[in-house]
Amino acid sequence: MNFIFAIVLLISSLNCTFAAPSKNLRFGILSFRPKEITLKQWQPLAREFERVLPGYTVTVLPMTFSEINQATKGRQLDLILTNPEQYILFKNQSTMNAIATMITLESGHPMTQFAGVIFTRADRTDIQTVADLEGKNIASVGEESLGSYLMQRWELEKEHVQAGHYDFLGMPQDKVVNAVLAGQDDAGFVRSGVLEGMAREGKIKLGKTPPLRVLTHHVSVGSDNISLLHSTEHYPEWPFGVSPLLSPEIVRKISLALLNIQSNSEIAKTAKIAGFNPPADYTPVEVLMLRLRSHPEELKYFNFSDVAWRYREFFLIAAAVGLLILTLFVFLIITNRRFKRVANENQKLLLAVEQSPVSIVITDLNTKIEYANHAFQKITGYPLAEIIGKTPRVLKSGKVTLSVYQEMWRLLKSGESWSGEIINRRKDGSEYIEHSLITPVKQRNGRITHYLGIKQDITERKNAEEQIKQLAFYDPLTGLPNRRKLLDRLNYTTVISHREKRMFAVCMMDLDKFKAVNDALGHTAGDELLRQVALRITQRLRGSDMVARLGGDEFVILLENVHSPENAAQVALEVIADLTLPFNLAGENIVQIGASIGISFYPQHGDTPEKLLDHADTALYKAKDNGRGCFAYYEAV
Ligand code: GH3
Ligand code: MG
Repeated sequence: MNFIFAIVLLISSLNCTFAAPSKNLRFGILSFRPKEITLKQWQPLAREFERVLPGYTVTVLPMTFSEINQATKGRQLDLILTNPEQYILFKNQSTMNAIATMITLESGHPMTQFAGVIFTRADRTDIQTVADLEGKNIASVGEESLGSYLMQRWELEKEHVQAGHYDFLGMPQDKVVNAVLAGQDDAGFVRSGVLEGMAREGKIKLGKTPPLRVLTHHVSVGSDNISLLHSTEHYPEWPFGVSPLLSPEIVRKISLALLNIQSNSEIAKTAKIAGFNPPADYTPVEVLMLRLRSHPEELKYFNFSDVAWRYREFFLIAAAVGLLILTLFVFLIITNRRFKRVANENQKLLLAVEQSPVSIVITDLNTKIEYANHAFQKITGYPLAEIIGKTPRVLKSGKVTLSVYQEMWRLLKSGESWSGEIINRRKDGSEYIEHSLITPVKQRNGRITHYLGIKQDITERKNAEEQIKQLAFYDPLTGLPNRRKLLDRLNYTTVISHREKRMFAVCMMDLDKFKAVNDALGHTAGDELLRQVALRITQRLRGSDMVARLGGDEFVILLENVHSPENAAQVALEVIADLTLPFNLAGENIVQIGASIGISFYPQHGDTPEKLLDHADTALYKAKDNGRGCFAYYEAV
């Protein structure tokens, strides 16, 4: 059919190009029936136009809705017979002016108006009024159709009724009737007259028990006393239009020809119409289209809600998918943040454990080492690769009694911690003492899965303690006991000597001319000399005697078990003699000094360390005064 139309259009446009264009009028007709039938139907009218317009040829062009739309837009048609709805579109495009309204014949009655019919199967007792169509499936020929869709839609809109689904079946309208009869759809929309026509043709019965029921409209508007079944208001019949490009002369002649058509003429009979009236008022059609938003002006300004309504299912799915994606996105962000926070905390903990100065080890329940920190590796001497998977038994020195381990396991098995000191052996075989705290690691449900060992190497702590003690009681230069240690010993010796009624001697010694060595060879040489002096004195004394350095070149010798002053004098003389011998210092420097000694005795010269030291000092002054290199006893004044 489209092919025939294309050829006709091509021929007509060829005429337009090569023949005299103004002499050929193209007459487009909206064709609901097969195009050949439409062509035949309107040929007599075309001949009539040729008669009133001598020298013109009129070509009848039966067209579908979209074909006529396209041709009119392209201003390829001079005369147009179409439905009121399409006319409104053309009027707004200024491509068509109505000059007459067709008078149709229904059951012998001339009609200038038509209406829409809403019907259901007679047995659908649930559908009595328009309101009952809420959510129902409705059959129609198509959404451009005025009489079988838009008119009825408007009735539903007025009642705020929302159909469930529209089933657009296309022409002819019989299809709509059949779909409802077959129960495919709940209701149907057709143009007025269709049901009566089908009844005439014997396709349906409209007698006393009709298979269909029409939802009748109670207000009848319009001039025609319509006896046809109808459910909507009435709207004017098809307009006959002309192109605004046609000359007024031709328009006048065409108008007159249309109005002159008699209902019993051959033209009217062939076209199955009663004739044409002057153009009706098409405003109600336009209003209807505006309200249903199918008017071109409305379409131009369609808003988001129109689009949203038309694509509501798509929007709903898109919104649901969008919401899902958004939810997933938010969930991912929150989870990611939580993971990062946990990872940061874990990292912090791991670094703290790894760098802890105490050694940390984690084992499984079979005491196989799963983790050991840096301090553990440093103290034991085992690198991580060698210790992982082994048990702490590799550190066993064999010096811990079995009962210690038995007690440890008794506590651990009962879920408690154990702490104590253990002697272990390093990889290099050396031993060390560690203070261990071993505790079971419990999961939230209380189940023990690991053991945690926190150990501190205390051999090191003891070393540190020793160093502190050394600094507190010994002279760092010579290694001899200092004043504090001397006083301790003097106190002790005083007590013992008092108890055992023994005497002892305190010899205060100062080197002679020591400063000269400092001045001549420097402080370092002086220091070395002090160390050699300390050594010589120590070698000269008995194990029970003590020599202490008080500071500078001053020393104190404590002589116990002294029975007479001569005993002390002898030692003093020996020490002085020793210290008078030359000293060999670094750099082949040989120096010679001397020493002076002052002696006090317990209990004769005092019964406290302080008194004894004071009196020995006084005696020392005396020795210095006596010319140095000698000793002197304290003499009470
Ligand atoms: P005298 O015969 O009268 O005892 O005189 P002296 O030269 O021995 O000097 P004196 O005993 O009066 O003073 C001791 C000097 O020892 C003073 C100081 O410069 C020096 N001295 C003090 N402590 C140190 C030290 O730790 N190292 C060195 N190298 N010299 C010291
Ligand atoms: Mg001196």
